[in-house]
Amino acid sequence: MAAKDFNGMGLSLLEISHRSKQFMAVMDEAEALVCELLGLNDDYGVVFLTGGASTQFFMAPMNLLNRDDRASYIDTGVWASKAIEEAVHFAHIDVLASSKDSNYNYIPRDYSVPKYAKYLHITSNNTIFGSQYHFWPDIEQCIVCDMSSDMFSRPIPVEKFGLIYAGAQKNMGPAGTTLVIVRKDLLGKVSHHLPSMLDYRVHIKNGSMYNTPPVFPIYVSMLTMRWIKAQGGLSGIQKINESKAKIIYDEIDANPLFKGTVNTTDRSLMNACFVMNDPTLEKEFGDLAKSNGIDGIAGHRSVGGFRASIYNAMPQSSVQVLVDLMKEYAVKKG
Ligand SMILES: *Cc1c(COP(=O)(O)O)cnc(C)c1O
Repeated sequence: MAAKDFNGMGLSLLEISHRSKQFMAVMDEAEALVCELLGLNDDYGVVFLTGGASTQFFMAPMNLLNRDDRASYIDTGVWASKAIEEAVHFAHIDVLASSKDSNYNYIPRDYSVPKYAKYLHITSNNTIFGSQYHFWPDIEQCIVCDMSSDMFSRPIPVEKFGLIYAGAQKNMGPAGTTLVIVRKDLLGKVSHHLPSMLDYRVHIKNGSMYNTPPVFPIYVSMLTMRWIKAQGGLSGIQKINESKAKIIYDEIDANPLFKGTVNTTDRSLMNACFVMNDPTLEKEFGDLAKSNGIDGIAGHRSVGGFRASIYNAMPQSSVQVLVDLMKEYAVKKG
């Protein structure tokens, strides 16, 4: 499928109508692949929206909660707290637990979800702080989950989730579309008006074509899902991700110069965050990495140190380059 000659049309995907049968086929396949990879049945609607995961911070409560309803949220980092900041304007939000007191270096477990809560909102992978859920809260209500940074990185028990949203740009494709998976029976229960563009039912009914969809990010996401399928689906990609994460965390733990910032049980398979025992060496190691062709490993300013983002698309050989450099650096300093 050449970029400039999409399916032999003599035109690129970006030149054709989103209502052409050629693009409709892309949309249909993208939706079908989401269902196939996750094992979704007809109870769920699958849509590709715009506005980023950040729009879902308010769109989810708008669609699921009436003004007097209550929902529970867990604060595990920057994105989780942004979701809370937006949700409080639509209903009563109870923040049941937060790991803010220790710079978000763990996933809280010590809370119970009140019966009156309509859902529990969690952020499955905390992109900035490098923590990740490796368990799913065992509750009666459904989970609403921001999976932006670990979508399609491992199998998940979909039946526990009422709504999953994920911006494409971390694990699926280019920025510009957000995948939303929602249990249809949760919709249509709010008494306030929902603008069409902010109503999941409108997008489901129109097959993500209520307005012009972002064709290119959806197309690339579709290709990514084909690739994941070829890796052995979500359990195949999980094995690869675990193997990649293991080599970097093993090095962080064994190397006397480095230490991980997150509790070991909650470490992210997607974003490995680490600092140096002697912070004055961080600039030198950062420069060394850069001169060895390793880019973008500076940690977020709220954590410092380094963050190796090793999303689905990152090959193990690239992780190994960083690991080898850490080893060499320790020998040099040791
Ligand atoms: C990047 C990210 C977001 C923000 O996504 P946008 O598409 O830029 O709005 C939200 N949540 C998580 C977990 C993220 O990693």
